[in-house]
Amino acid sequence: MEMRELLREAAEAASQAYCPYSNYRVGAALLATDGRVFRGCNVENASYGLTNCAERTALFAAVAQGHRSFTALAIASSGDEPPFPCGACRQVLVEFCGPALPVWVAAHDRLDDAECVTLGELLPHAFTMNNSPEDNQ
Ligand SMILES: [Zn+2]
Repeated sequence: MEMRELLREAAEAASQAYCPYSNYRVGAALLATDGRVFRGCNVENASYGLTNCAERTALFAAVAQGHRSFTALAIASSGDEPPFPCGACRQVLVEFCGPALPVWVAAHDRLDDAECVTLGELLPHAFTMNNSPEDNQ
């Protein structure tokens, strides 16, 4: 799958965001190794701390449907800047994705300006059950 297409999936997912408090829409599209794409959006709550990010929504949807292996993640937002994942999402992604996972981020109206970083760049020295540095780079 082309990254541009995965970014478009993320941008479409952002349109489903439930964000009455922030008005900040985020969508994520997680590409599984079998080619399936799992979408997620941010889901806010009146109790702000219970808000769930788009990335975790996508990952949890995938795991709930039996998928645990992924090859790429795209994230698009309604903001002006590329929506890099928050710390919580980085840690949750590490549970299922290796450090080489490409993470594409873009504002939804500027998909051509997408940036790509790896999960390992986003969360170096990640905490895992096999917590040796070699495993987590
Ligand atoms: Zn997050």
